Amino acid sequence: MRLSRSEYQKRYKSKHPERFKEQRRLYRIRNSGKINERRRKNRAAKKVPKISKFSHKYIPEPFSGCWLWCGGFHSNGYGAFSFHGTTLAHRASWMIHNGLIPSGMSVLHRCDTRPCVNPNHLFLGTQSDNVQDACLKWRMHYGESNGMAKLTSDSVQQIRSSPLSHKEAASEFGVNRGHICAIRLRRRWRHI
Ligand SMILES: [Zn+2]
Repeated sequence: MRLSRSEYQKRYKSKHPERFKEQRRLYRIRNSGKINERRRKNRAAKKVPKISKFSHKYIPEPFSGCWLWCGGFHSNGYGAFSFHGTTLAHRASWMIHNGLIPSGMSVLHRCDTRPCVNPNHLFLGTQSDNVQDACLKWRMHYGESNGMAKLTSDSVQQIRSSPLSHKEAASEFGVNRGHICAIRLRRRWRHI
């Protein structure tokens, strides 16, 4: 009866464990190149391509059209995904859909949603564009243009220049004392 290769090895191992071990060691030394090559091929066959990994990590949001990232996140609120030297998901999204980013350029959000990775909501800009963009949006949301604001720029200037105490000013302008204090210390309405 002819034994199969693995069966033969099993028997040999049980009969002469020390010899088996030594022969295996020698085989590994002699054929390390072949073994490594086989391992590399196996690993490459198992590997999921990066781009298909990316497409499983966001959910399209039907109302805004944003593709919300549901993978890992950085502490600053941007999605985390490492791709071609970046670890930011929105930069990776840009590269997947539009090609490489020119050096020194930032990928900015048109929709102001940091976890969004929809390439149609992204555009290229410099770092100063980014700051300008943020300032514009900051001005839109703060001060008088905020619908909830009780005070106007004029009344803020009056509060700062008036000799009244915090308490008196508070009752005159219809806001609380802490708010007057914060305005005078320039913790509120800083842009005026
Ligand atoms: Zn978006």
